[in-house]
Amino acid sequence: MQTVLILLGPPGAGKGTQAARLAGALSSPHVSTGDLFRENLGQGTELGQKAKQFMESGRLVPDALVIDMLFDRVAKSDCQAGYLLDGFPRTVAQAQALDARLSGATVRALNLSVADAALIERLTGRWTCKGCAHVHHERFSPPVKAGVCDKCGGSLYQRTDDSREVVEKRLSVYREQTRPVEAHYRARGVLADLDGSRTPDQVFSAMLAAAQGAQG
Ligand code: AMP
Repeated sequence: MQTVLILLGPPGAGKGTQAARLAGALSSPHVSTGDLFRENLGQGTELGQKAKQFMESGRLVPDALVIDMLFDRVAKSDCQAGYLLDGFPRTVAQAQALDARLSGATVRALNLSVADAALIERLTGRWTCKGCAHVHHERFSPPVKAGVCDKCGGSLYQRTDDSREVVEKRLSVYREQTRPVEAHYRARGVLADLDGSRTPDQVFSAMLAAAQGAQG
């Protein structure tokens, strides 16, 4: 049976970092709608052009665009046995579209919570790799050589949406549009709440246990 893991939580909660580790541990593809949009932007596609203004201002890309892009991605053969979603769904309409598509699959939502002040510090200090999307942090995980990714040697950049102003907007969008998605999965009895403020290794162990509970 197909198993779909959904990572929920505000921007900066650690979804991307943990999703990459979980994907390795569970041999399940990591599907990030933010990464898919950034790929489209980098390649100059029409979709990337349409998404750009929303992303740069910290708003959500309209549901129809996100849902089509995501469904194209998860239709690929590597997602047949299941996949791990990072950054989707971010609205109740997206969650409903996913439900309609996934009838029969095992779904588990892992919800990371972290206080706002810590989220702002995490996001505004982030340096992302252009090559492999690995994330360094200027205080918590600085690269050995400034501006260079420890993992792949690619160059590091600060996402334009990680500026203080856009981060505040992303957090308010999260509170208004994405928080209700938690209630959606809680009502279905498939939500696990996890404390995302602990160390990355502690958060990872808790997430892996919750994810495996879903599979076992
Ligand atoms: P992320 O990398 O997940 O923080 O996503 C970066 C930006 O991409 C978000 O601030 C949105 O503008 C857009 N985005 C990513 N996923 C979604 C989604 N599920 N729905 C709407 N917009 C999204």
